Amino acid sequence: MPFCVKKCPYCDFYSVGGKPELISDYVNAVRRNIRKYKGENIAADTVYFGGGTPSLLQAGQIGEIISEISDSFRLADNAEISIEANPGTVDRYKLRDLKSAGINRISFGVQSVVDSELAQLGRIHTFEQARSSVLDAFLAGIENISCDLMLGIPNQTPDSLSLSIDSLCALPIKHVSAYMLKIESGTPFDCDYIKSRIAGEELSCDLYLQTAEKLSSHGFLQYEISNFAASGFESRHNLKYWRLDDYIGIGPSAHSYFKGVRFAAEKNLLGFISSQYQKETVTDPSPDKLSEYIMLSLRLCEGIDFEVLKGLGGNVFETEKQMKKFEGAGLAEIKNNRAFLTPKGFLVSNSVICDILNRQ
Ligand code: SF4
Repeated sequence: MPFCVKKCPYCDFYSVGGKPELISDYVNAVRRNIRKYKGENIAADTVYFGGGTPSLLQAGQIGEIISEISDSFRLADNAEISIEANPGTVDRYKLRDLKSAGINRISFGVQSVVDSELAQLGRIHTFEQARSSVLDAFLAGIENISCDLMLGIPNQTPDSLSLSIDSLCALPIKHVSAYMLKIESGTPFDCDYIKSRIAGEELSCDLYLQTAEKLSSHGFLQYEISNFAASGFESRHNLKYWRLDDYIGIGPSAHSYFKGVRFAAEKNLLGFISSQYQKETVTDPSPDKLSEYIMLSLRLCEGIDFEVLKGLGGNVFETEKQMKKFEGAGLAEIKNNRAFLTPKGFLVSNSVICDILNRQ
């Protein structure tokens, strides 16, 4: 859903600020692209409205898309149906209508509870608005609530992060996604002024470890490098990306992994609206399952399953030997025929993954 009220200065996702007049044609285009799959008898048990800011759509439009999905796919009765929401774009009535439309999981882009940090990020909401949105969602009957938290915001300190974590965890939420602010080239944040104020390497590591520890003390168990959940509230949808399951992405810049092929839709909003079907480019015609398994499973706390690795033709002996070395350094653990990274290991996951890939 590539619409936002305005672009945040750090964001390089494909989305346009303003342009609400295009939303209705956009919804029709999304529905056409969903109908394309009708007749293929595809089972779906998760739906994810991601952004941009999908909460800019009316609840009725979200409901129409969900109906189109259940007409065109075998949508499970207990499907997880998530929407990303910007706290500045919903009120209690809209949240109630979203719940009636079929939404049962909501992910709020809260980012921080400190208003000066939110202003620095160019967010359109205060923490008080975010807090009310979370409470309204809960009162509307959406029990599965996630909040995004940002680490490394300019001038953020361990104390202000601590306050953000404690305040978020005091809300009726079940999931937290904690992402490090990354300066993307070409965004307004890609300038010396901001770069001199964001966390350096050492502080970033401290903030990450502090987050993992503090969230765990609040009962949010880490299950992925950036994701923490109360038991049983892991994002079923996002787990599909990391477990190499199929997914179909609809909308400009959406990615898919379907029938063994990875492909991406063109980043062109007007082109998407005016074409019968989205233009797709194959990004990988035959992904290397072994490499993808290693890269993705090491993002997850469940880690590499040696049986699966063997089934994919991987070198279990070398992998285990190397992971034992990482275990000695406190970066990994080996348990029940699986090897996985610790929070400290996640800080250097890129090097660990490269190392393991080179040993296959
Ligand atoms: S609201 Fe989200 S998607 Fe939109 S510009 Fe801000 S960070 Fe990017």
